[in-house]
Amino acid sequence: MECYFCKKTQGVTANPEEEDSIIYRCPRCGPVRLHKDACQYISEPTHLPENDRRIISICLRNIFERRGPEGSNKILTFPNLKQIVTTYRENDAIEKIEIALLNIDSKCKFFGDYISVNLENDYPYYHCFEQKELHPLLVMLLESGFIESEYISADHIYQRQTIHEKLCITPKGYERIRELKKTGKDSRQCFVAMWLEDEMLTVYEIAIKPAIEYKEEGQKESRFKALIIGEKEHTNDINDEIISEIRRSRFMVCDLTGYRGGVYWEAGFAYGLGLEVIYTCREDWIKKIKKEIKNESGKIHPIIQQGIHFDLEHRNRIEWKNDTKDDLSKFEKDLRDRIKAVIT
Ligand SMILES: [Zn+2]
Repeated sequence: MECYFCKKTQGVTANPEEEDSIIYRCPRCGPVRLHKDACQYISEPTHLPENDRRIISICLRNIFERRGPEGSNKILTFPNLKQIVTTYRENDAIEKIEIALLNIDSKCKFFGDYISVNLENDYPYYHCFEQKELHPLLVMLLESGFIESEYISADHIYQRQTIHEKLCITPKGYERIRELKKTGKDSRQCFVAMWLEDEMLTVYEIAIKPAIEYKEEGQKESRFKALIIGEKEHTNDINDEIISEIRRSRFMVCDLTGYRGGVYWEAGFAYGLGLEVIYTCREDWIKKIKKEIKNESGKIHPIIQQGIHFDLEHRNRIEWKNDTKDDLSKFEKDLRDRIKAVIT
């Protein structure tokens, strides 16, 4: 069979179909589990352009490498695929070199370990859109002194045929990795920590994201990019990913609505890294209150809304509400003004 995304046929192994999904393993994309409706829909080439298929291949392979087969067995629907494409940000050349270095590092089992890169199958792992991109990328890594190859001595650096074999990271490479892992002080990313509940996600779309991704007059591109985990990919276990994305971020917007343990943890982690954290909270969640809610069967029962945890109670925050139609645009403006004032 042919892979739906990278179009590879050789080495693609199909598993028995399940009622609603097609399952196979691609040497480039890793394990793939596609909903039958999505398969049918994307069989029509115009429904999913070539470039989008490449992006999906890159993301699937990276999810698999990070989380293993367990973490990448979700059945993908067409909206999932669209989401992967719309949230993918293409990396510039320098970012690609850095990502490649980090990915080589995570392949190395121990300090000084050698790895080999399979040019034909591994290019999506290194965020390359095509195989021919990977070779020059490795040359750049070598020439920057971040990696070396046992087969290439310093004098014979231009014998490039075997450049992908027996690679290891140099001391300079490790130094760079340490810098990259530190924080994303130069990055444009803003990590958003918040309660991932339907109404809150609407608030994210309408107010938080536009506030972060504001554009100065006359600017074509926004200064910052918002990232919310859950938006980026379909996901189960997100801890490692959250840690690395917080590290890669320039600052954090943390919404305390809902008293979520995960959100507090993320805020604490970012604070510990020295990142600027801008706190926000919906008005009705600031104070501890008792209220009554109706459950699914219509029965009324009391709950205690915990308010803001005492740890963060005293911190400066933006309070917002969502009662009238202008409330969210006020929130967006307040947040945008704060970002402009605080993040230099
Ligand atoms: Zn593939």
